[in-house]
Amino acid sequence: MDDADDVYAIASAPFAGPLTFARAPFDRDPTDADIVVVGVPFDGGTTYRPGARLGPRAVREQSVYVGQYPWGHWPWDAQVLAERRLVDWGDIAGTVFWAGYPQRMVRDVRAAVDPLLATGASVLGLGGDHMVAYPLVAATAERHGPLALVHIDAHSDTWDMGDDLNHGTMFRLAAQEGWIVPDHSIQVGIRTPNPDTCGFRVVDADTVLDRPLAETVAEVRARVGGLPVYVSFDIDALDPAFAPGTGTPVAGGLTTREARVLLRGLAGLRIVGADLVEVAPALDPSDATAIAAATLALDLAHLLALGRPEPAPAV
Ligand code: MN
Ligand code: MN
Repeated sequence: MDDADDVYAIASAPFAGPLTFARAPFDRDPTDADIVVVGVPFDGGTTYRPGARLGPRAVREQSVYVGQYPWGHWPWDAQVLAERRLVDWGDIAGTVFWAGYPQRMVRDVRAAVDPLLATGASVLGLGGDHMVAYPLVAATAERHGPLALVHIDAHSDTWDMGDDLNHGTMFRLAAQEGWIVPDHSIQVGIRTPNPDTCGFRVVDADTVLDRPLAETVAEVRARVGGLPVYVSFDIDALDPAFAPGTGTPVAGGLTTREARVLLRGLAGLRIVGADLVEVAPALDPSDATAIAAATLALDLAHLLALGRPEPAPAV
């Protein structure tokens, strides 16, 4: 079997072979990567149904299927990722943070991600519950400066619980730290009450669904201004019909297709970090949630590729 045959055999057997994100090379010490996928299998910040610690593996498994085509990820131009080096670093699963030590998760994510960002790479985080965004945003802001947050979610995640850090408070605390700039940040798909917006622009789910998607895209693009952008995608932004496998599902959300159109509308923004969180495979009997999540995570990888500071080398 020559190399070409081998590539084709792997591509056509997504149920077999080693498990990395979309078959990206496993690289624990990348020095020249453009995009590094990092799993954070932590759900110690969950307030309702746990299980998102199993999310990174489930998303990787479906990413091998979703991302199996040598001709690219429909409908993106195949050159977007072909011209960039995408690697999978594996999971941050140090010490005992799965056993209920949330501050160790924060510490361990920084320890893993800071050196990756120092190489100039962009990080795509796979959760885990949404609290994992807290150290990911912190690390990204330390590297790039205060960020515009594009937050797609059923929940605002800015509830006031004092200093308590969990998957419903981390963006209030991140704004207080100055890592994200509320005046240039926007939340899309929200459908839970929170009287205090913390200064974020809120585009609730009904507004998104009652008008052309292009209007929401334009509002997001105008809001972020010239700041570096971090995109945080909570899979529960999708309606439970499309993403039942998540800890805190809320009826009345986006379709997978609507979410994809929104994300593609962000192409060309200076997106320097992203995450896809809250996939809970034990609640996902058909794998629909993980398939949607893998599709959206690949979309995020394309956005990160297009947000890279230097042009890709000619191929
Ligand atoms: Mn949510
Ligand atoms: Mn969330």
